[in-house]
Amino acid sequence: MAGYESATLDIDGYVPFSEERCRQYIEDGHWRNLTFHDVLDRAADDQPDRTAVIGPHRELSYGDLQTRSRQLAAALVENLGLEVGDMAVFQFPNCTEFVEAFFACSRAGVVPVMLLPRHRAAEATHVTNLTDAKAFFTAGDRYEMGFDHVGLVDDIAADCDSLEHRVAVCDETVPDGWHSFDDLFEPDGTDAADDIEVNPFDPGLMLLSGGTTGMPKGIPRTHNDYVFQWEYMASVSEVEDDWVSFPSVPIGHNASLNCIVGATFWAGGTLAVEPNLKPESLMALIERVGGNYTLPIPTQLIDILEHPKLDEYDLSSLEVVMSGGQKVRPKAVYDFVDNWDVGFENIFGMAEGPLICTRPDDDVDVQAHTVGRPIAPDADEVKIVDERREEEVQQGEAGELAVRGPGFFTGYFRNEEENSENFDEDGWFYTEDVLRLNDDGNFEVFGRMKDTIIRGGENIYAPGIEDEIIEHPSVMNVAVIGMPDERLGERPCAFIELEPDAEAVTVDSLSTFLDERGIAVFKHPERVEIVDEIPRTEVGKIAKVSLEERITQQLKSEGVLPEEY
Ligand code: AMP
Repeated sequence: MAGYESATLDIDGYVPFSEERCRQYIEDGHWRNLTFHDVLDRAADDQPDRTAVIGPHRELSYGDLQTRSRQLAAALVENLGLEVGDMAVFQFPNCTEFVEAFFACSRAGVVPVMLLPRHRAAEATHVTNLTDAKAFFTAGDRYEMGFDHVGLVDDIAADCDSLEHRVAVCDETVPDGWHSFDDLFEPDGTDAADDIEVNPFDPGLMLLSGGTTGMPKGIPRTHNDYVFQWEYMASVSEVEDDWVSFPSVPIGHNASLNCIVGATFWAGGTLAVEPNLKPESLMALIERVGGNYTLPIPTQLIDILEHPKLDEYDLSSLEVVMSGGQKVRPKAVYDFVDNWDVGFENIFGMAEGPLICTRPDDDVDVQAHTVGRPIAPDADEVKIVDERREEEVQQGEAGELAVRGPGFFTGYFRNEEENSENFDEDGWFYTEDVLRLNDDGNFEVFGRMKDTIIRGGENIYAPGIEDEIIEHPSVMNVAVIGMPDERLGERPCAFIELEPDAEAVTVDSLSTFLDERGIAVFKHPERVEIVDEIPRTEVGKIAKVSLEERITQQLKSEGVLPEEY
């Protein structure tokens, strides 16, 4: 490992950690100066024969993964001409090839950009151009994804000047103008891979913001700050080297890549990857590989608990289950703990860095109702501030979460506007999420600051109303949004998924229910839309923008709103 002391890559629009912070984090022992592939090599040198990845098409030992990632890294550099600091968009399903490509990029100093399988042309074009990506890796005919990802890249290529190479994971047909993933490997090139110098203070990865609005933002993470979180995640979750972990959401999402993939490789455990993330497929995977550790989103928890074939699968191997990304229903936590005696980690997480979670041995009430503590309490700087971002609120009061430290990013990529809005001059990042630190030291999440409906000048905090409505016996899922109103600006509207065979909910019956719970009348939804399924983003968050668009169109077609609204 070359003796770097701070960042060396000069990438336009990237905000590096200051030299002072680099020095501090190394001195304090938070950063270990390891790249992603150093973490792999450590485990591979230690236990080359242990299984690293179990995938649908391949199983690789740590030794195999080490070798294959060196062969692929050599090809990236020698055959594709990629250089340290170049970016490559990944749009893989959860598969072994992702893992090989991830570590190959790390060795080559190429920064993978984590597009998700459900992203489409608009996001793919935006992200490719934002990062000037030179290569695009995606699924060819080896994986049935229900969508033509190769076609998507072909369609956007003309709008993406930087793109030089398209790589697809293929079995039968290599599309014209594409490289076959398998054919890239350079069996004799492993020495070439070892000659590349990669600085762990530089970015090793570009995550994308979840963004329920607009286009995803680029979130660069250095090897050092990300590996720091892998280590803490492995320790908090008590991941063992004989565990089998598996991502339940797309592998390029921080929830998987950090909490599951990273923690597993840090601990020298085994990762199982399954492209189909439907509940039955996940249950089958758990039974097949003896899955111990995973992070599904709350919807997946419920889908599993309510699955008609639940009893047909043996899920008793589960040891630790995390869930988060949106509020977890307490009942799902109690049911998971009751059914499988798991250690439940209720997590608040952001690709920007914050990871706050309960611990496997916390009391179940803490796991059901809070998101616990930051993963690195001695290193993560965390505060809850008032609306003006000037002062910390009293403990026990809700406010905006702000963070700084060795596990957090330093700024959105090429986005000065967001950075000047959400970072202060001391390097604190303001998350726009509302949390509260309870007296027992655990955090509770209240939602996004901006998720507020303004009705005739009165603020209605939508997640607060959703928390009440979800308690209604007929309601399985709910999203409250502001519907446009000419007089009041906005009025609350509830989209509701009913429990099976439940009685319908109307504006009046809901209002009576909320009245009984003491909720002010101005906050009661003034329209209820019963839907089969609430639309969600690629990682299962409620897509409020699409609901707002839908209700606006509906109000126009009903003549309630003028066409030009
Ligand atoms: P992402 O970067 O896609 O992981 O999205 C991060 C955002 O998800 C946060 O800023 C929160 O708004 C939301 N989020 C994450 N975890 C939770 C949670 N446990 N409860 C409520 N919202 C959450």
